[in-house]
Amino acid sequence: MGCTAADVVTAVRAVAATVAEHRVELIQLDRAIGDGDHGENLDRGFRAVLAAFEASTPDSPGAVLKLVATTLISKVGGAAGPLYGTAFLRASNAVKDRTELTVADVVAALTGALEGVVARGKAELGDKTMVDALDPAVRAAAGDSVAAVLTAAADAAQHGADATVPLVARKGRASYLGERSAGHMDPGARSTALLLRALAEVAGS
Ligand code: ADP
Ligand code: MG
Repeated sequence: MGCTAADVVTAVRAVAATVAEHRVELIQLDRAIGDGDHGENLDRGFRAVLAAFEASTPDSPGAVLKLVATTLISKVGGAAGPLYGTAFLRASNAVKDRTELTVADVVAALTGALEGVVARGKAELGDKTMVDALDPAVRAAAGDSVAAVLTAAADAAQHGADATVPLVARKGRASYLGERSAGHMDPGARSTALLLRALAEVAGS
């Protein structure tokens, strides 16, 4: 059985809970190499998404993802809002008007999300951004169930996030620090890994 709109709402609620739980951690990571707002930006965004779910109930997985996208784009400033917004928008486009998402649809959604982030932010692998988590996640996204796909993606994303520590940032605010950006995990790569972990845990439950 595939993922219904209600399943996707449940998954996004889990993402919102994870973001709230890790808000301070993400703020601290961004304080080290940015301006310290990443945790606040995402938490504000996903709280707005929860409010949007109260106001309307989209009836397809793609419509849920689109509501997340438009809410993040309108409520979250900084680099991450438009980047995550574009990721959710492309994920939504990838699943079209399906009523239930199959394994292949979930892989297509993840692939779309990466393409959206790259199209918008122009970061390459190794630039010390969320792409360093999302790109390996998409490459690892395979399996015979949605839970298996998302678990593989989440594992690869966290590996990717860990591997940003020694890198020198070449995109975003952290790039202003030059060599001093090395020695810290990229906040956007960490939030990407957390988000995928939340999705994997919901799918596996
Ligand atoms: P801001 O940098 O505007 O304060 P946030 O702190 O919310 O925005 O987000 C910072 C994160 O955004 C970085 O850790 C990085 O992962 C991501 N990021 C920044 N610029 C880019 C880009 N061009 N492409 C992909 N990700 C980016
Ligand atoms: Mg910031």
